[in-house]
Amino acid sequence: MKKVYKFLLNKLPRPLLIRLSYVFRVFAPLIYKGDNVTCPVCEKSFRKFLSYGSNVAHRENVLCPYDLTLERHRLMWLYLQRTDFFTADAIKMLHVAPEQCFYHRFKKQKNLDYLTGDLESPIADIHFDLHDIPLEANRFNVIFCNHVLEHVDDAQQCMRELHRVMSPGGWGIFQVPQDFSLEETYEDPSIVTPEDREKHFWQKDHVRLFGRDYPDWLRKAGFTVDEYKPSDLFSDKEIERYRLMKKEILYIAKKMEH
Ligand SMILES: [Zn+2]
Repeated sequence: MKKVYKFLLNKLPRPLLIRLSYVFRVFAPLIYKGDNVTCPVCEKSFRKFLSYGSNVAHRENVLCPYDLTLERHRLMWLYLQRTDFFTADAIKMLHVAPEQCFYHRFKKQKNLDYLTGDLESPIADIHFDLHDIPLEANRFNVIFCNHVLEHVDDAQQCMRELHRVMSPGGWGIFQVPQDFSLEETYEDPSIVTPEDREKHFWQKDHVRLFGRDYPDWLRKAGFTVDEYKPSDLFSDKEIERYRLMKKEILYIAKKMEH
């Protein structure tokens, strides 16, 4: 049973996995019973998390068997717990390409005026192209748009649009896959086949690979950017228990008040 379960979690494509997640919710607590790791999103503890990733980028002990969070989801959630995101009154929020593990939680959150958007996802409230968001300027106090900007044709234009619809004093989280060995973001419009894109940009549908200059891209679009490493926020013990990625950097993009 355990083998079958592990096999399914590693072999099935993530969208299908997510649709099957009700199955995992039943079996995971039984199979992975224990208290070595904790997922702050579902607030459950396990003996360990599951492994995740392709043969090239395989990681052990990272996927929550209950709600399928990865390191980056848990880092973001833990950061949010240190802000007034769960308690502040009447937050107007835009969630682009909403992550399944957050979506249901945010939807239930009474202090959020919560709008979801995506190019095509059926769970999104509205559908739009991020290059040209069909919404008024200065509308949202909080915007999340994670793992999107590596897919779009013109990332700078999309960042300017995110900045435009954010209200002054607002903030957002726009995480992307980042290669910290690259000083500058790698783009090459001549790389177009899925095979080449996977080889150069890590995934078949990525059109660039962001480097250490990623926060400068956000600054260029008008944001000020705060940067946090997990070790800035959490002890080594917490980083181990929540299984965070030590080298990941969380960027908080803010729009200044005038
Ligand atoms: Zn979880």
